[in-house]
Amino acid sequence: VLSSFEAAQPLPAAFQQLGSTTQSARRLFEIVDTKSEVQNPRQSAPLPQHYDVEFRGVTFSYNAEQPPILRDLSFTVPEGSCVAIVGPSGAGKSTISRLLLRFWEYHQGSILLDNQELNSYSQEDIHRLISVVAQDTHLFNTSIYENLRIANHDADREAIIEAARQTQIHDFIMSLPQGYETQIGEQGLLLSGGERQRIAIARALLKDAPLLILDEPTANLDSLTEREILHTLRTAMEGRTTILITHRLVDLDMANQILVLRDGKIAERGRERDLMQSEGLYWQMWNLQHKVLV
Ligand code: ADP
Ligand code: MG
Repeated sequence: VLSSFEAAQPLPAAFQQLGSTTQSARRLFEIVDTKSEVQNPRQSAPLPQHYDVEFRGVTFSYNAEQPPILRDLSFTVPEGSCVAIVGPSGAGKSTISRLLLRFWEYHQGSILLDNQELNSYSQEDIHRLISVVAQDTHLFNTSIYENLRIANHDADREAIIEAARQTQIHDFIMSLPQGYETQIGEQGLLLSGGERQRIAIARALLKDAPLLILDEPTANLDSLTEREILHTLRTAMEGRTTILITHRLVDLDMANQILVLRDGKIAERGRERDLMQSEGLYWQMWNLQHKVLV
């Protein structure tokens, strides 16, 4: 029996693309040299001691002419727990991650990290504390080894290989004539979407940051690999505060809380079993995606 996670996407393909323009993908990923409009505070707050995150009444739009993308959004992610944010493309899921990464300034409501406004921390500090896996992975024009090590310059060869093993890319790398020393072009042309994604996840493992943002981390993977990678991610999430953004409703019992986002608002929230029991929007989306192909 073939169940299809891929085939039954709730919205047309064109809509799916909206959130993943090159520009936003770059924004999400080019942590190293993002030029952004965000001002660092004159004096940065001391680093947080705890890693709980709270959105309190956040209303946000990218520009003044646009209606709000997020509307009066409130939720908390206790330290070490996982919130899953699901919902159709364009709902505002990635916008939440961009705000958390401080790529955009917020003006209405509060985003709190360890009970301090996010904008009282410097962008650099925030980026040190967060590992990101997004749909589009930036690869640098250097060896695979360096592309992994970039996540953590203190990582030794053993740690890098271990991360590659955990994300099931080690065997592929070893099958290349030059192994870890294989050069990859800036566009990473050598690598498939799934391989790039595994590199991204390996980087997140290596970075070892207390906060983890996963924005459609398994988007380019087939269902079987997706399950295996989710298993690895589950381990990576242990003890970390995790925001898991996905429109694929797979293995979401791992989330302590699921937010169903629609039009920038939380339409439903709860644990998976409760959302399934109440037969609302989540349940509808789940049924749509898990329809058995005949
Ligand atoms: P999701 O991740 O749920 O698919 P996004 O958060 O990426 O949705 O996008 C939510 C809405 O914000 C979409 O309508 C999208 O077109 C819009 N949007 C995203 N990025 C920008 C931007 N940089 N400028 C203006 N609008 C944007
Ligand atoms: Mg998105």
